[in-house]
Amino acid sequence: VFTASTVAAAPEDPLFGLMKAYREDPSDKKVDLGIGAYRDNNAKPWVLPVVKKADDAIHNDPNLNHEYLSIGGLPDLTAAAQKLIVGADSPAIKEKRICTLQTISGTGAVHLGGLFLSKFHPQKPTIYLSNPTWANHNQIFSNVGLKIAQYPYFSAKTKGLDFDGMLSALRAAPNGSIILLHACAHNPTGVDPTEDQWRQIATLMRERAHFPFFDTAYQGFASDAWAIRYFIEQGFELCVAQSFAKNFGLYGERTGAFHFVSAGGADASAANANVASQLAILQRSEISNPPAYGARIAAKVLNDPQLFKEWEDDLRTMSGRILEMRSGLRERLEKRGTPGSWEHITSQIGMFSFTGLTETQVKALRDKWHVYMTKNGRISMAGLNTNNIDYFAEAVDSVVR
Ligand code: PLP
Repeated sequence: VFTASTVAAAPEDPLFGLMKAYREDPSDKKVDLGIGAYRDNNAKPWVLPVVKKADDAIHNDPNLNHEYLSIGGLPDLTAAAQKLIVGADSPAIKEKRICTLQTISGTGAVHLGGLFLSKFHPQKPTIYLSNPTWANHNQIFSNVGLKIAQYPYFSAKTKGLDFDGMLSALRAAPNGSIILLHACAHNPTGVDPTEDQWRQIATLMRERAHFPFFDTAYQGFASDAWAIRYFIEQGFELCVAQSFAKNFGLYGERTGAFHFVSAGGADASAANANVASQLAILQRSEISNPPAYGARIAAKVLNDPQLFKEWEDDLRTMSGRILEMRSGLRERLEKRGTPGSWEHITSQIGMFSFTGLTETQVKALRDKWHVYMTKNGRISMAGLNTNNIDYFAEAVDSVVR
């Protein structure tokens, strides 16, 4: 019989546990470099001005109601989300071989894609994740019953991409494997393949008939959707999990989209419609229909050329401040003569830096300096600001020596 007493306690989620420990630390020196959420120079959450503007307009609209969205979500959002990923004049849109459902942010999109592949892929192949990857990938894909394997990604030696390791693993994977790829600003490493490396990855994946599953949670922080568009041009059938949490600062509104792009061909549009119909059934049983508020905000901004421009400005504000923190941190460590090379702080991109600090050093940073970061040595660059960057550099210097 089932009783609650047979259920063992689950371990605490490492990232949310870290946030809790930070909140409970009474020190006024404490620094939060844990969660991947943008912070302004005062370490405060930042509501993008364009989001505030769109929010006010929606809020004051006398016709606003709180009806259900359709199963697939807000059409103004899903159409705009498609264009943002594949480009407005993509043949995939013209030939009606892309379908899109609004999801519970990026997490929901990854889940919907995983569930779909687990149910409808006749071979139910293994999904290959980069080592390391966003920790939740492992849980999400195992929850839907997919087998998980890893491909090497990060070279501890160069603190850059282990490209040879990655290619060898993709070559060795059974034909037709699912390969999860971070479209840009890889989490946690901040290391992305170059365009030329993406081309080589695509060539190899084509040879091995692998299926690309793109996860894009940081579009606008680093490069854009180049890799996804390139794979589509090369004729791949693929899917994309897209999050608007970070690039709109809509974290808690849970706004995202899942796209399935069919390869070209005479029956591509009909096949894609079948996929869409099955995704809708899955969505109905999982969440019935997605949440409306964040979708309205993102849709308003994406569909209004003036607001879109203002959004790009806001993205530049965020990525610009992060870049300043990257160069500021590197400069300070180099000036102190902190042992080791710190060039990777500025060569890595996106929201994170994979510092190379060891678990022991991370622990010392927390215990002695009240600096909170994940134990793999990842720091969220947006947690640094002009008030704490000197303190952080001093702290790193002390634990590395
Ligand atoms: N995928 C990656 C690689 C991420 O880093 C994240 C967030 O940290 C997500 C997906 C999903 O985030 P959300 O569900 O908040 O959109």
